[in-house]
Amino acid sequence: MGVNEAAGDTEAKEALLEKDRKYLWHHISPHNENPMIIVSGEGSWITDIEGNRYLDGMSGLWCVNVGHGRTEIADAAAEQMKTIAYSTLIQSHVPAIELAAKLNEWLEGEYRIFFSNSGSDANEVAFKIGRQYHHQRGKASKHKYISRHRAYHGNSMGALSATGQAQRKLKYEPLGAGFTHVPPPYCYRCPFGQKRGACETQCAQAYEDAIIWEGPDSVAGIIVEPVITGGGMIVPPDDYLSKLRQICDKHDVLLIVDEVICGFGRSGQRFGHLNFGVRPDMVTMAKGLTSAYSPLSATAVSAEMYDSFKESGPDSHFRHVNTFGGNPVSCAVALKNIEILERENLVSRSAFIGKELLNRMKPLQSHPHVGEIRIFGSAIGIEMVEDKQTKEPASAARVTAILAGCKQRGLLIGKNGDTVPGFMNILTLSPPLSTTDDEIVFIADTLLQVFGRSEG
Ligand code: PLP
Repeated sequence: MGVNEAAGDTEAKEALLEKDRKYLWHHISPHNENPMIIVSGEGSWITDIEGNRYLDGMSGLWCVNVGHGRTEIADAAAEQMKTIAYSTLIQSHVPAIELAAKLNEWLEGEYRIFFSNSGSDANEVAFKIGRQYHHQRGKASKHKYISRHRAYHGNSMGALSATGQAQRKLKYEPLGAGFTHVPPPYCYRCPFGQKRGACETQCAQAYEDAIIWEGPDSVAGIIVEPVITGGGMIVPPDDYLSKLRQICDKHDVLLIVDEVICGFGRSGQRFGHLNFGVRPDMVTMAKGLTSAYSPLSATAVSAEMYDSFKESGPDSHFRHVNTFGGNPVSCAVALKNIEILERENLVSRSAFIGKELLNRMKPLQSHPHVGEIRIFGSAIGIEMVEDKQTKEPASAARVTAILAGCKQRGLLIGKNGDTVPGFMNILTLSPPLSTTDDEIVFIADTLLQVFGRSEG
């Protein structure tokens, strides 16, 4: 019996759950004896094996940008599989060439594209390329990377070293050497005691201070998301990223922008950094690149940097390969995904969805347990507190009650923040960019109802 046929058949469901308990190791969760088994999806909705439908308010893990069930993506994948399913990028193939060109158009600058499999891979590649770049310019001592507390950059040793959430790292240390962190641009809880809109962006200056303390000759680059997403939707002051660009230029430090979540329309622009008018040296991307229909990631490297790999003598090429990176099927999926984003104007739709949700959820701003609502395109964070004055983070029970209330009404939302105990207090929303007007109303109304019931 196929998985989908199991829906409606209690015995078959029990048998599947039994196998799940016995054989499957679930990601980043306590041992879950009763997981939701998802069997199908259409647009913004997913259906579990019990036949329950949920609006996928997080687009999976911030990734299904064009929504579920796009048969034209399935057709593009099948067509490519029938033509040629695999070819390396030691040689070349048509979907990778076309996709690299398309990404240049989307990035509004000249970049060389290195394909890998996941967001973590894309960041590892950026770290390696950055080090080699400095090396072959005679600056081999420049090897360190600086990132931010609260940031998440991936699960592999380098990407986890750049991650700024302690609990994700404990028990896996020691990690990679040469990574250090600065405070995040967290205006609601400013680490520098300043007020939003009335500060001198000390959070950006912190990066320069760290570069100087570490020694500019030892620093290869800095890595930032345009806004910190998984770490709690932390939106920086408007001039933050351009200040980082200036600091990097001053100290010959590379600016790497992690667009794994913010890319492909989520921010209301094609890439998050385009909201701030900066040109990064490297841009990493995954998730929305294929809307997660197939695994693929990319590291876009400025053409100037690429030239040094071409021109610095023997062995100056990048000595890195992975078997699946840039798989032709995944590249064909990405091309079709981008075609849909363009054809349906989903980038501007993203900005509309965010503004509309914010507008409809305005009453929440005066709720006693809502400290602040933050938004970047269609990514939204609702920071929950115990007390608006003291800003004490909301208890786990209070946050869980909202998640459960939403789920009961057919809306799946996320919970993010810091892994330091007590700080997982930010509800997140990042619905598909194809979310309809009626679905926007459903999301906002559901949250209002659930918060209404939790008042006091
Ligand atoms: N960078 C950011 C900002 C992410 O949110 C993630 C994953 O959530 C990653 C990198 C790692 O991506 P992956 O899970 O595909 O390795």
